[in-house]
Amino acid sequence: MLFASIVLTILILVCGSIYYFSYTNRLNSFKTRLTNWAITTSRLLSQSAVFDPQMILTIDASTMLAMKGKTVQAYDELNNMIYIYSDSTADTIQFPKDILNRTRKEGDTYFSFGNRDAISHYYHDKNFNVVTVAAAFDEVGKQKLVQLSYILLFSFAGGILIAIAAGYLFSKGLLIPLRKIADEIKEISVQNLAGRIKAGEGKDEWNYLAETVNQLLYRLQDGFEIHRRFISNASHELSTPLTSISSQLEISLNREREASEYRVTMESIHQDVRQLSRLTQTLLEFARASGDPGGLEIDLVRIDEVLLALPGEITKLNQSHKVKLVFEKLPDEDEKLLVFGNEELLITALRNITVNACKYSDNHLATIKLVSQNNLINIYIEDEGKGIPEEELQNIFQPFYRVSNNRNIKGFGLGLSLANQIIKLHKGQINVHSEMGKGTEFIIALPTAGNLSKKRGSP
Ligand code: ADP
Repeated sequence: MLFASIVLTILILVCGSIYYFSYTNRLNSFKTRLTNWAITTSRLLSQSAVFDPQMILTIDASTMLAMKGKTVQAYDELNNMIYIYSDSTADTIQFPKDILNRTRKEGDTYFSFGNRDAISHYYHDKNFNVVTVAAAFDEVGKQKLVQLSYILLFSFAGGILIAIAAGYLFSKGLLIPLRKIADEIKEISVQNLAGRIKAGEGKDEWNYLAETVNQLLYRLQDGFEIHRRFISNASHELSTPLTSISSQLEISLNREREASEYRVTMESIHQDVRQLSRLTQTLLEFARASGDPGGLEIDLVRIDEVLLALPGEITKLNQSHKVKLVFEKLPDEDEKLLVFGNEELLITALRNITVNACKYSDNHLATIKLVSQNNLINIYIEDEGKGIPEEELQNIFQPFYRVSNNRNIKGFGLGLSLANQIIKLHKGQINVHSEMGKGTEFIIALPTAGNLSKKRGSP
C-alpha cells in the first residue's frame, strides 16, 4: 500500500503538471494569435485611404481559418462600433464598455465571452484611435486538451493498477522470507536452543538477518550452558557440607553419647555451616556482580585507600597470611587514582586474588604494587608460590574450576571468576603470568574515573 501510494502521488504530480502546462500553453498561444489579428485589423482600418472596408472584411474572412466563431470589432473613442467582421452574420454581440475603457487605460485586456476567448487592443496613432476586440473559439486547442486529459486519465488508471499489482508482488516477495524466519524462530525454545535458522547462499538482507539471529542463538546457547554448569556445580558444592552435616547428626543421634562427643560433632558441624555460609555469600556476590550494573551503588573509589586497608583485612582472616604494599610512580593528581565503581565489589575482587597469592604460596606472602599509567591504574599482585601449569591458566577464571595441583588446599573455585566478573564490570581486565616453581603474578588494569567518564559515563 505504501509503495502504491508513493506511485499514486508521483502520478498525480506528473499528470497534473502535464495538464496544467498544456492548458497555459494553449491559452498563451491563442492569446498571441488573437492579439496579432486585432493589431493587423487596426492597422488596416487606420489606412482607410488604401484599404476600403470591403477589402478589410475579405482579408479578415480569410485569416485564422482554423478558429470557430471568429469576430473582430473596432470601436472609436466614444465606444461606437465603426467596424465589425463576424463568421456568422447573426453575430451582433456588443462588447462591454468598461472593458473598452479599461483597454484604453491599461492596454491589452484578455477576457472570455461566452465560450469564446477575447482580446481587446488599443491602437492609436496621430489621427486614428481605435479599440479593436478579437474573439474566437479555440476548437482545435480545446479538443487537443480534452484528448490529452483522456490520455492522462488512462495512463493514471493504468499506472495505479500496475503499481498496486507490483506493490503486492514486491511485498509478497519481501515478506515470505521474513515469515519463514519468524516461523523458524517460533520452533526454537529454551529446551531446543540448538536449532538454527536456514540462511540461504545469497548475500541479501534476509541472510544477514538469519545469520545475526543464529549468532544470537549461539550466544544464548553458550550462556544457558554456562548457567546450567554453574547451577550444577553450585548444587554440588552446597550438597557436600549438607550431606556431611546430615550424616554427622544421624550418627550422633544413633545412641546416647558423652557431652564431649557431642561437642566434637557440633564443632565439625559448625565448620561445615561456616563453609556453607561462605559459599552462599560468594554465590550472592556472584549474582550481584553478574546482574545489571544499574542496580549497584556507584561512586568514586580511591584505589590506593582500598589497597591500604587490604593487609589488615587479610591478616584478620588468616594470621599466617601477609601482604606487602609497594606504591610506585604514584601520580600527583588524585584523579589518576580514582575509579568509578562499587567499592565493596572492588574490595572483594582484590581480596580474592590477594588471598589466593597467600594461600597458594609456602611463605604466605603477597606483594601488591600500584602503578599509575596514563589513564589506567595497574595493580600487580605477586607471590612466590608453586605457580599454575600453563595449560590450566586459561581455565582458572571459569566458575568452580580448581587447578589440579592445589586440590588439597580448601576452596570453591569461585574466587577468581568472581574477581574477573567484577573487574569486567568496571571496564577493566585481568592478566596473569605464572611460572612453575617461581610464582604467579596477576595484573589488574582499571580505567580511571576521568577516562571512563570520557568514554561512557559509568560502569
Ligand atoms: P579457589 O582458590 O577457591 O580454589 P579461585 O577461583 O580463587 O578458587 O582459583 C582457582 C584456581 O586457580 C585455584 O584452585 C588455584 O589452584 C589456582 N590459583 C589461583 N591463584 C593462584 C596463585 N596465586 N597461585 C597458584 N595457583 C593459584
